[in-house]
Amino acid sequence: MAEPLADRVIKRIGQAAELYHRLVVLVAPAGAGKTAALQDVHERTAAPLINVNLELSLALLDLTERQLCTYAHILERRHRRHVDRLMLYWTSEPRKQDALMVLPYDPKRAEEAGRYFDETVRRIQAREFAVATPPEPGICMECDLRMLCRSEGIITGAD
Ligand code: SF4
Repeated sequence: MAEPLADRVIKRIGQAAELYHRLVVLVAPAGAGKTAALQDVHERTAAPLINVNLELSLALLDLTERQLCTYAHILERRHRRHVDRLMLYWTSEPRKQDALMVLPYDPKRAEEAGRYFDETVRRIQAREFAVATPPEPGICMECDLRMLCRSEGIITGAD
């Protein structure tokens, strides 16, 4: 009888601890039980279970909404076009009905966005690049700056 997937993953994690590159990638066809196996690993090892795509999307959504509010504000001011909603289209979704996301447009959010961007520019000009609180490890794992942050001691651990 084949060894359960969760047992194999736990074994691989143990082996990876000895290696320089500690990434374990679980690849299997759809319906093979990857999600259930990872849930099982999470419950048995108490390792955090992070949906990286979801976390990244949530972290970026606020920024995207601010950006869209700014565009809407510009459209209203420059072209006198009324904007009543913001629409996002997630290009990686295979089904059109899952790809479209509609957000309400609140002009107050455009003012907040303006203040947020002004503050960001001020911090860049003042060379304030310190990361006070790093995000979830799963987000850093996907970030192109992780080697720099690791060498600066902002984050710890290896890939
Ligand atoms: S690796 Fe550094 S820059 Fe990238 S998300 Fe983590 S803390 Fe931020």
